[in-house]
Amino acid sequence: MGGSCHLVVVAAPKVCQLCYEEGHYASGCQYLGVHCTHAWCCGFMRVVLGHMEEGTLQSKYLKCSREGCSAVT
Ligand SMILES: [Zn+2]
Ligand SMILES: [Zn+2]
Repeated sequence: MGGSCHLVVVAAPKVCQLCYEEGHYASGCQYLGVHCTHAWCCGFMRVVLGHMEEGTLQSKYLKCSREGCSAVT
């Protein structure tokens, strides 16, 4: 008796599905429901990840999801 077998429970990492940042889920994302920057557009902004060369920071920007609108922040 006296075994010291402990199960190590590793919680699944909290990763946002919208902006891919850790620490929160999409439901609590700061990018959730962000309206397009154009006043005439009723679209919503979506997070787009730009893949860059290895060793460089990944670029992230918001782009309007509405077809025909090119709003980017
Ligand atoms: Zn997020
Ligand atoms: Zn737009």
